[in-house]
Amino acid sequence: MEAEEKKAKEKKVRVPRQKMPEQGPKVRTHNFEEVPFGYTEETAMTEAKRCIQCKKPCCIEGCPVEVNIPAFVRLIAEGRFIEAARTIKETNSLPAVCGRVCPQEDQCEKFCVLGKKWEPVAIGRLERFAADYEREKGEMSIPEWAAPRGKRVAVVGAGPSGLTIAGDLVKLGYEVTIFEALHKAGGVLVYGIPEFRLPKRIVEAEVDYVKKMGVKIETNAVIGRIKTVDELFADGFAAVYLGVGAGAPVFMNVPGENLSGIYSANEYLTRSNLMKAYLFPEYDTPIVRGKNCAVIGGGNVAMDSVRTALRLGAENAYIIYRRTEVEMPARIEEAHHAKEEGVQFKLLTNPVEYIGDENGWVKGMRCQRMELGEPDESGRRRPVPLQGSEYVIDVDTVVVAVGTMANPIIPATTPGLEINRRGYLITKDETGKTSREGVYAGGDIVTGSATVILAMGAGKKAARAIHAYLSSG
Ligand SMILES: Cc1cc2nc3c(=O)[nH]c(=O)nc-3n(C[C@H](O)[C@H](O)[C@H](O)COP(=O)(O)OP(=O)(O)OC[C@H]3O[C@@H](n4cnc5c(N)ncnc54)[C@H](O)[C@@H]3O)c2cc1C
Ligand code: SF4
Repeated sequence: MEAEEKKAKEKKVRVPRQKMPEQGPKVRTHNFEEVPFGYTEETAMTEAKRCIQCKKPCCIEGCPVEVNIPAFVRLIAEGRFIEAARTIKETNSLPAVCGRVCPQEDQCEKFCVLGKKWEPVAIGRLERFAADYEREKGEMSIPEWAAPRGKRVAVVGAGPSGLTIAGDLVKLGYEVTIFEALHKAGGVLVYGIPEFRLPKRIVEAEVDYVKKMGVKIETNAVIGRIKTVDELFADGFAAVYLGVGAGAPVFMNVPGENLSGIYSANEYLTRSNLMKAYLFPEYDTPIVRGKNCAVIGGGNVAMDSVRTALRLGAENAYIIYRRTEVEMPARIEEAHHAKEEGVQFKLLTNPVEYIGDENGWVKGMRCQRMELGEPDESGRRRPVPLQGSEYVIDVDTVVVAVGTMANPIIPATTPGLEINRRGYLITKDETGKTSREGVYAGGDIVTGSATVILAMGAGKKAARAIHAYLSSG
């Protein structure tokens, strides 16, 4: 019997990991539509059947929001797609988002036992399939929640962290209001990650789901301006969660950086995504559609910016990165997509000066070649300039994507809220408890720029901590 079981397992895992069809590079650089099309019912079932239903599923250990992976994968294998989506939603309120943008190769899929000898189960693609299936069939269900407790919690910021804690707290019987600075909820999911990776209708549907659960969202509400954290307590909120992200732009202080045509990635992507500048003049926010666009940086934000530049019509779109591809922080898949689309990678290269024309517009960029020296504090080899290696490239648009930092507005208006030397909020432990009684925090504002799922995981842990705090008195 055991031998037969073993044979059956061997047969399963030998089925290759199912590919996801996608738009070809030549077509997709001319549109903003999503690149991969997603699994069909048939491919999803084939892929799900590869899972050997481990008794001790390591994949769950790699998921910061503890999705019951083998359970939902088994339901897909059995063709019970709606039930699969509901199983995911027991612990994850944004599955269609996570199925698209989570770095699964570093999380659940990295732990999948199949990966040791073969390819891991495509957990992310299956999550996306189940969530899309449920939404497209219009069968989105609302979970049951505890009886109202008569206590109100304020959440500041409607990014993945704020949306997650809000969903978890309403399920526990709290009345939750999210205050969001922008006119749309979603945080980086709506203003940062481009349409071709994460269609905004998907984010809207998941935000609607959180609203249907009973969460109130007040947009155009900058806390620290319209009201302080202390005023939220005075208004009767029993606890406050700060999930304000770390979206303030960082520049490099290179001479000429204030010339016209040079954007921070934050502004460039916000104009293009949230304000729909790519549809200008149908939408009223313009954007420079450069012919020669250089994006400085090697992370996911740089890849999103350079791929946006291509779609806006750039003939030459460059990534300018001071180390080599090995040290590049972008997901391999993102860099691969960018290359396929024709992005030119200028590695071991750093800008040292921007050159302007007579009207104050950028027309060139003086670059310096680099070589790798000893490792620095990040553990990566330090880039060292090569003397006499400078050269100029023609550019008419530059996007600076070298990181972001914390916005000081909340700490500046909340006495007693401790921050570290880089301006991020200090929390006592994983619960997100800050130095102020009743104030919790999580997501990028605590960790610095990280990932959607880690921000969601922080929201989940803080929901449990706030529940314990409010139940104890
Ligand atoms: C371009 C880009 C691409 C990315 N791609 C990926 C990816 O593919 N996969 C991945 O996992 N991660 C990715 N990330 C990182 C990921 O998006 C973040 O780690 C995640 O969004 C952090 O969530 P958060 O809820 O902490 O903050 P955010 O998403 O930044 O949300 C914070 C919200 O708080 C609001 N806010 C700020 N201050 C106030 C205030 N004073 N009052 C009221 N509201 C306020 C902001 O407007 C915002 O809506 C990307 C980031 C960027 C910028
Ligand atoms: S580790 Fe892989 S094979 Fe095992 S249950 Fe999880 S997804 Fe299935």
